[in-house]
Amino acid sequence: MPLKTPEEYLESIKRPVNLYMFGERVEEFWNHPIIKPSINTVMKIYELAQIDEYKDLMTATSHLTGETINRFTHIHQSIDDLIRKVQMQRLLGQKTACCFQRCVGFDTGNALYSVTYEMDEKYGTDYHKRFKNYWIEVQNQDLMVDGAMTDTKGDRSKRPNQQSDLDAYLHIVEENDDGIVVRGAKVHQTGFLNSHRAIIMPTLSIRPGEEEYAVSFGIDTNAKGITLVYGRQSCDTRKMEKGKLDIGNFKYGGQEIFVIFDNVFVPKDQIFMKGEIEFSGELVNRFAGFHRQSYGGCKVGVGDVLIGAAALISEYNGTEKASHIRDKLVEMVHLNETLYSCGIACSSLGFQREAGNYEMDMLLANVCKQNVTRFPYEIGRLAEDLAGGLICTLPSESDFKSEEIGPLISKYLSTCEGIGPDDRYKVLRFIENLTMGVASVSYRTESMHGAGSPMTQRIMISRQADLQEKKNLIKEILDIE
Ligand code: SF4
Ligand code: FE
Repeated sequence: MPLKTPEEYLESIKRPVNLYMFGERVEEFWNHPIIKPSINTVMKIYELAQIDEYKDLMTATSHLTGETINRFTHIHQSIDDLIRKVQMQRLLGQKTACCFQRCVGFDTGNALYSVTYEMDEKYGTDYHKRFKNYWIEVQNQDLMVDGAMTDTKGDRSKRPNQQSDLDAYLHIVEENDDGIVVRGAKVHQTGFLNSHRAIIMPTLSIRPGEEEYAVSFGIDTNAKGITLVYGRQSCDTRKMEKGKLDIGNFKYGGQEIFVIFDNVFVPKDQIFMKGEIEFSGELVNRFAGFHRQSYGGCKVGVGDVLIGAAALISEYNGTEKASHIRDKLVEMVHLNETLYSCGIACSSLGFQREAGNYEMDMLLANVCKQNVTRFPYEIGRLAEDLAGGLICTLPSESDFKSEEIGPLISKYLSTCEGIGPDDRYKVLRFIENLTMGVASVSYRTESMHGAGSPMTQRIMISRQADLQEKKNLIKEILDIE
């Protein structure tokens, strides 16, 4: 059976990579205190797939090999698969309270599966076979794959081929019988360092004359010519302090990488698009659609934990029975479940592509993500409201644990009978972390910009909304010819 254990996963990513953080090369990144929580998060995915209770959600049967595989490597074969995907993402959000990083490659694989098929139908190419072979390896070895889309984009008023630096969008700079050489950078790369492989995609719909930018391929994340720079996150150096409570979520975390491709060679059998400009926009849209569906699961799971933290801190403060506190908790649940409803709805109305795989409903997936750009902010605002000002005035863990001043802090942080001040400290720090610390990247900024900034969903909503049909509805009721 191809499922890796968490320990096997950890061993498998211990490889040399060209990684920088704080201006210095990082060796053995898996031991770095800032990086470790992000690896723990991915290990949780591998762990849950081993547990009988979660197998239904965490695993699937490969239609390519018949083997039991991790669902993150599955190509959806039914509407039920689409729904289980969102349920699995909610579960993982609940278990880790952060971005678990493995969905990007999952969504890329599902988008490329149908796009490569359709390219072959039109051009007689063999991208689909290549992609399937590549993906069978991913399934059989239970590999984590990143999906890389966002270019640095230079001057945004200009097209890729009008930039003063043509590398502002990743492009092909050389080609021979064996493959291609590419140059450029991909930013906001969730989990790139923790992934074995990455699949690179164009960032926008490519036009005639820009063929060198219509490129998609698979690459090992430590291939020659790839340099990684670890993204800073708010309060990240708290992970390097001696205690752990000030971190908030001290077990798990996300990871964002700035990835530079400096003349990277890609062998032919790993190329999945090369110059087919008409399909570049489709690949972007399908990937984005799948990832917008994903947010109706992952952010909901994280929201569940934040709502739990808000309810718990209310209990610790002795305010949980107050009607306005209960009402705020109800509002948080209502917002969170609305997001989940969108994730489930776009999955339930999924459809089958010509290639045989299933895809979510595009309009509802975009509505889902548009709501995700808003509701977590309101849920976070309410959590801050319930937690009180202490989430940003609390003394440090060192003071809290100091022999001299600690007992006094504990005395004044004590609330209800039987509630330890240390538990209250932990929950307050967790809420701080999720709403304004490192984890706010996973819960807030990703909700805003991940899978595309709000305007990108509005563009898709306007394309999918059939206003003429709606005008016909009113005309029919009012007898207007
Ligand atoms: Fe998965 Fe959500 Fe992270 Fe995207 S933001 S990789 S959907 S957990
Ligand atoms: Fe994301």
